Amino acid sequence: MHASPLPLTRDLVLIGGGHTHALVLRKWGMAPLAGARVTVINPGPTAPYSGMLPGFVAGHYDRDDLDIDLVRLSRFAGARVIIGKVEGLDPQRREIHVPGRPPIAYDVASINVGITSDMPALPGFADHAIPAKPLGPFAQSWADYLARPGPARVAVIGGGVAGAELAMAMAHALRHRGRDATVSIIDSATALSALGDRAAQRLRQALAGLDVQLIEQAEIASLHSDHLLFSDGTKLEADFITGAAGARAYGWMAQTGLNLDDGFVTVNDYLQSSDPAVFAAGDCAHLSHDPRPKAGVYAVREAPVLYQNLRAALGAGQMRRYQPQNDYLKLISLGARSALGERFGKVLSGPLMWRWKDHIDQSFMNRFRELPKMKAPVLPRHHADGMDEALGGKPLCGGCGAKVGRLALRDSLPAPQDRSDITPLPGDDAALLHTGVTRQVLTTDHLRGITLDPVLMARIAAHHALGDIWAMGGTPQAATATLILPRLSNELQRRTVAEIMQTAQEVLREAGAEIVGGHTSMGDEMTIGFTLTGLCERDPITLAGGQPGDALILTKPIGSGVILAAEMAGEARGEHVSEAYRLMQQSQQRASEILREAHAMTDVTGFGLAGHLSGMCEMSGTGATLDLQAVPTMPGAESLASNGTRSTLFIDNRALTPELPEGGKAALLYDPQTAGGLLAAIAPEIAEDVLSRLQSADYDAALIGYLTERLGLRLMK
Ligand SMILES: Cc1cc2nc3c(=O)[nH]c(=O)nc-3n(C[C@H](O)[C@H](O)[C@H](O)COP(=O)(O)OP(=O)(O)OC[C@H]3O[C@@H](n4cnc5c(N)ncnc54)[C@H](O)[C@@H]3O)c2cc1C
Repeated sequence: MHASPLPLTRDLVLIGGGHTHALVLRKWGMAPLAGARVTVINPGPTAPYSGMLPGFVAGHYDRDDLDIDLVRLSRFAGARVIIGKVEGLDPQRREIHVPGRPPIAYDVASINVGITSDMPALPGFADHAIPAKPLGPFAQSWADYLARPGPARVAVIGGGVAGAELAMAMAHALRHRGRDATVSIIDSATALSALGDRAAQRLRQALAGLDVQLIEQAEIASLHSDHLLFSDGTKLEADFITGAAGARAYGWMAQTGLNLDDGFVTVNDYLQSSDPAVFAAGDCAHLSHDPRPKAGVYAVREAPVLYQNLRAALGAGQMRRYQPQNDYLKLISLGARSALGERFGKVLSGPLMWRWKDHIDQSFMNRFRELPKMKAPVLPRHHADGMDEALGGKPLCGGCGAKVGRLALRDSLPAPQDRSDITPLPGDDAALLHTGVTRQVLTTDHLRGITLDPVLMARIAAHHALGDIWAMGGTPQAATATLILPRLSNELQRRTVAEIMQTAQEVLREAGAEIVGGHTSMGDEMTIGFTLTGLCERDPITLAGGQPGDALILTKPIGSGVILAAEMAGEARGEHVSEAYRLMQQSQQRASEILREAHAMTDVTGFGLAGHLSGMCEMSGTGATLDLQAVPTMPGAESLASNGTRSTLFIDNRALTPELPEGGKAALLYDPQTAGGLLAAIAPEIAEDVLSRLQSADYDAALIGYLTERLGLRLMK
């Protein structure tokens, strides 16, 4: 009998991609819990590792070296990733709030959001300073500042270990670049007081060696764009000010109703908050049974305990107690490739300590860089002929929306019978219906699981379906939804359908259409589709109608197929995936309005740019010359294409236009697009004006070639 996958029955939501959750996700990927649906929410696709931040600031590491790619990690763990900032958690309703999306329901949640070192009470801080935590925005600001020419005046507020480490790293980087630089640390009391005397003395020497000025017992009154004002009226020149003083908990946690200590979530020795369904770990948690200072080492050591206890809370196994260690080896980098180590009052420093620190940090990061290879499902030894060819050497990817190739469709679509009230629009994925004087277009589209996030899927699927209406210059009218959900418990079905329908309604309503019905069933994986009608005030713009000499304008970069194919194989960079998602959610409504004078238009989807262009040429009786250099591509797509990443539909799409080359960037011409841009043939005399209007409306649009009298497609020399 054919075995069906087990249903998902419980939602585990991880808030924040901090060190603890990153390690939990890695462990989850290696040993997932059947029936648990895991979600991780983080403001960006990556989370920086604090141990390597000073090395990055000093210039010893690249940004990539310290970033944990949460998108890749989540794919490995089978978790959905939500790029967003949590602003609330409601333990009564068991819901988490992220702006711009429906509430996220949970059965068990865990918070690992770190701390912030911003100083809202200090006048001018919000406008003229950047807190050292969260680390991601700080790292970006520093990289931008370092790249600027001219003298550098840097001030670090807070003379703790982190402040000193950052100041030395900054002084080293600026000196290395030959910049005229002054770096100062300001502390309201005595700097480095948390360290033992010997370590503090050694650090003071290191600071002096780098000419870092230590200003102690000083009270800052306000910050300004080019200086810092002390309460005694003196000024300190500074055009890069950072705050590394103390640790503040994020304000939203105070609204949760959970027990807090100075704003931090109070947890017991199981890392459980006052609500047993909510856990917390790392800097944002207060260990009530054995309080500890805020340090990454605790966040890391809590991971195996949190992993086990989250599973137990979901119904599998026993909880375990977390007992923090008494002391830990503090490794502090000293600007150059030298570090200081302190434990139990013993101090060692020099290049050897740096190498030791580097070894520990790289080993930590390697756990995320080299994720164990995911096993492909094993093909049964006995299978019918043709299986290998059908698989094409890899599993089916969703990068093409798992569509059937254009050739297969062309050969199998029945020829419509003559009816006076239906005008078939061959190749346009739609038909024109005449009801009295009303002209209505009808189209349908669906996508299978390109992401595990139903909200993102619903948005992209809605934009994908709307593309057909926008391409014809129509106005969306009504929609029915077709949903196929994987096996879920009744409660998870309810949550998922609510998320999908609320999101779909938002996107479609904004486009002017109402959802009037739908159908839901269960299947192997999530599939979301919409059948849409649109009204046309005038004859729809179709594939036919293009004229030789027309300029070809494309409104969105291509490359979503290779990025999604790589993402599913765990090989895409998270930042590229999140940018591709952003582009796939970009509405083409305004573009369609700007392109209303197009002679011919289509949306670029499953058949790829070349396939859709060839369809336009076929129907318009023209050829086309493409300027490959001008074709906009999504970040990361070209390098993936050059490395040989291909979507499942590539071979079929390639066969549509054999006259074009295939290597390098050209491979992206056959890349199937999901919710792709519009491709329009525009009279050459208005093309520049139309293009600049599209660009002003925030489209990454480009003029990519011309229609020609000579048939066939070719590339511009
Ligand atoms: C310069 C510097 C150097 C340091 N060096 C060391 C060191 O060598 N050793 C050491 O032990 N400690 C060090 N620390 C301390 C260390 O940074 C922290 O203790 C550690 O990062 C805490 O990890 P965490 O998992 O709690 O959170 P973090 O690593 O801070 O991660 C929190 C994550 O949650 C995300 N997040 C924040 N808000 C939200 C929200 N609302 N919704 C969703 N996600 C959110 C953040 O973007 C981030 O990705 C250093 C700190 C600094 C500033």
